[in-house]
Amino acid sequence: MKTVIVGTNHAGIAAANTLLDSYPDQEVVMIDRNTNLSYLGCGTALWVGRQIEGYENLFYTNKEAFEAKGAKISMETSVTKVDFDNKVLYCEKKDGSTFTESYDKLVLATGSAPISPNIPGKDLKGVNFLKLFQEGLEVDRQISDPAVKSVAVIGAGYIGVEIAEAAKRRGKEVRLFDAETTSLASYYDEHFSKDMDKNLAEHGIELHFGELATAYKGVDHVETLVTDKGEYPVDLVINAIGFGPNNLLGKDHLKLFKNGAYLVDRHQHTSDPDVYAVGDCATVYSNALREEAYIALATNAVRSGIVAGHNIGGTPLESIGVQGSNGISIFGYNMVSTGLSVKAAEKSGMKVKFTDYEDLQRPGFMKNNANVKIRIVYEESSRRVVGTQIASTEDISMGIHMFSLAIEEGVTIDKLKLLDIFFLPHFNQPYNYITMAALSAE
Ligand SMILES: Cc1cc2nc3c(=O)[nH]c(=O)nc-3n(C[C@H](O)[C@H](O)[C@H](O)COP(=O)(O)OP(=O)(O)OC[C@H]3O[C@@H](n4cnc5c(N)ncnc54)[C@H](O)[C@@H]3O)c2cc1C
Repeated sequence: MKTVIVGTNHAGIAAANTLLDSYPDQEVVMIDRNTNLSYLGCGTALWVGRQIEGYENLFYTNKEAFEAKGAKISMETSVTKVDFDNKVLYCEKKDGSTFTESYDKLVLATGSAPISPNIPGKDLKGVNFLKLFQEGLEVDRQISDPAVKSVAVIGAGYIGVEIAEAAKRRGKEVRLFDAETTSLASYYDEHFSKDMDKNLAEHGIELHFGELATAYKGVDHVETLVTDKGEYPVDLVINAIGFGPNNLLGKDHLKLFKNGAYLVDRHQHTSDPDVYAVGDCATVYSNALREEAYIALATNAVRSGIVAGHNIGGTPLESIGVQGSNGISIFGYNMVSTGLSVKAAEKSGMKVKFTDYEDLQRPGFMKNNANVKIRIVYEESSRRVVGTQIASTEDISMGIHMFSLAIEEGVTIDKLKLLDIFFLPHFNQPYNYITMAALSAE
């Protein structure tokens, strides 16, 4: 059986590795238009902000590793068209030469593309995106130019917030814009995002929320950013307003989700029985919503690739669904969340209640201590947990995984009230914040 994988980043790599490692009889062909594979975009801001020394270690595999396992891999090669009836791919190499590739099974792992604000001046020099390794390199090159003093970041989701921090760490004057009234509005309720806003402002980032970018002005290079509320001098713009699925190859043949992502079942099957879709180009099953959703994360990409690989290899495997668990750490302030915020739940029409708790992480007698705040969101009718947010200057990240499992398993808020949670002063309080939040639930 011959499987062709289009797109060799996180999702495509996971599908390929699963097939190559577990099903030695499989013929695997991998095709990608980029020069590199496996770039960890999460590292761009760390490297641009000089919190790590370089970008070299942000790649976890390479072409040769797949060749050594027996795959045929073509980089700098675009798949321009798929003939789904005859199961043939049309490909074009960087030098313009073309070839075709047939398949028994096709895995579309074509990922996502940044959403471009369609406003005047969007093509001026100095207006950047932050998806590819090459785009990170370009932003870093421009930030390293001492003539670049003023940076505008458009979009205060996690990528925008991270790159705003990085630009500030490099000594720039940074303005962060978003049409929403807070940062991180898709993942966190205001109860949390307002703390992040305060953190950003205290570190010198000028916040412009509830403000819409309407134009970039300049002759050849961007000089000014115009919004519905003002006009600001700018030497470098970084667009980070979100991502949309890259569905170009299959959009006229395959069933699509409302945002254009390939609609897949829990085996990663698209509406064509010989075509699988994985990663950012496909839907995921949300256990909080109990329906298909679009959540573009590397973690989901890897899991979906593994699921597709096993199903193609001959081991039927269903995805267990996802919670969209995520974290962010900015100037030492850490926030993690899983499932739905109150705002996200209400937007999707779900009636929820929530319980908040705030306390010291450890008993008051411990010197090394910090505040922790938690919100657990649960469905009003069933009382099942559908989301949790936790924040602190402490590393509270591991706690969120339990809530991820709770959502996946449909655990109720009441089950958490007397859950066996250990106590040791080095780590937590006897009446710890998870128990206390659950006990405080109405
Ligand atoms: C700055 C940044 C920070 C991030 N931080 C995090 C994080 O901390 N945690 C997290 O979980 N996620 C993070 N993400 C999201 C994560 O990077 C994506 O969810 C992940 O890359 C999706 O992987 P993918 O393989 O599905 O798609 P992509 O990474 O988009 O890869 C798709 C591949 O398909 C190729 N391709 C597309 N069309 C064609 C074609 N026609 N022919 C040939 N090749 C094609 C592309 O060249 C590309 O290599 C971050 C993203 C960015 C941009």
